[in-house]
Amino acid sequence: MSNVKPNIKRQKRVCDICKVGKPVIKRPKTGQMVCKECFYFVFEEEIHQTIIQGNLFKENERVAIGASGGKDSTVLAYVMNLLNKRHNYHLDLVLLSIDEGITGYRDDSLETVKRNARQYNLPLKIVSYKELYGWSMDEIVKEAGNKNNCTFCGVLRRQALDRGAVMLGAKHILTGHNADDIAETVLMNILRGDVPRLQRCTFITTGNDSMIKRSKPFKYTYEKEIVMYAHYKKLDYFSTECIYAPNAFRGNARVFLKDLEKVRSTAIMDIIYSGESYENKSSNTLPSMKTCERCGYMSSNKICKACILLEGLNKGLPRYLIKKKTLINYNFLFI
Ligand code: SF4
Repeated sequence: MSNVKPNIKRQKRVCDICKVGKPVIKRPKTGQMVCKECFYFVFEEEIHQTIIQGNLFKENERVAIGASGGKDSTVLAYVMNLLNKRHNYHLDLVLLSIDEGITGYRDDSLETVKRNARQYNLPLKIVSYKELYGWSMDEIVKEAGNKNNCTFCGVLRRQALDRGAVMLGAKHILTGHNADDIAETVLMNILRGDVPRLQRCTFITTGNDSMIKRSKPFKYTYEKEIVMYAHYKKLDYFSTECIYAPNAFRGNARVFLKDLEKVRSTAIMDIIYSGESYENKSSNTLPSMKTCERCGYMSSNKICKACILLEGLNKGLPRYLIKKKTLINYNFLFI
């Protein structure tokens, strides 16, 4: 046998997009090996395409970006600021943060949002549960126990965002919900048999018929790519979990989705597309939006859920009122 090694030169692997750069990232969404610069560009431009196809904005619109200091909203603020300039959206962007009053969590994450506001040169408005409702989340948990904290928090946050937007003169709120969040919510609505919300949770914009609409520019953006983008761009974000975060049902849906992804890499997009093409032909539909007779904010009933929960807290009956069927699991429905 000859000891002479064949003279085969190993071909240098190059980026699948530009065919020049060194690939350092395998895109979870497409499986492509890409260089950093191409990853940034396709990540940003896919969001731009989602915005254009969804016809999300009007020129000169004032738009509030829901900012928590976490990875999703930090990347959202950064990318929206960048695309607004690159593609001349002519949007008046502002950051809107909610201070739920959770010591050791929100106080630290709000410091991150304040730094982001300076870094991206965007105005910031912070509204707190304490100033809006007279209760902080720490006080609510003390009063109501730690079983239903996310139900209280979710109901109050939804309205707090609307109130904050009104204070800012914005009629449009952007949230950082990503493709993984939406696929999880589709699964949860299937598991809960919530037919009317099954399709609605995949809408890119909701609230078109109300005074403040909400949009999700990251509807088709994978969580893993958001984390990679924040990491490689060295964005300043806060990654600690809320101290009151049990949310077991969503956690189960998340684990199930990850398992599905292992055997079918397109599972996230497939589930979103399924939700989008679902058509509700039953008589079971979502109630139309009106305004709460007490506080004047959006509600599907005469009295909104925030007012019902606050009444329970103020009367010392928080657990009684939260057991009313309409409030159970309300926190799962935010997207
Ligand atoms: Fe509020 Fe629950 Fe989120 Fe904590 S995990 S911020 S309590 S909704």
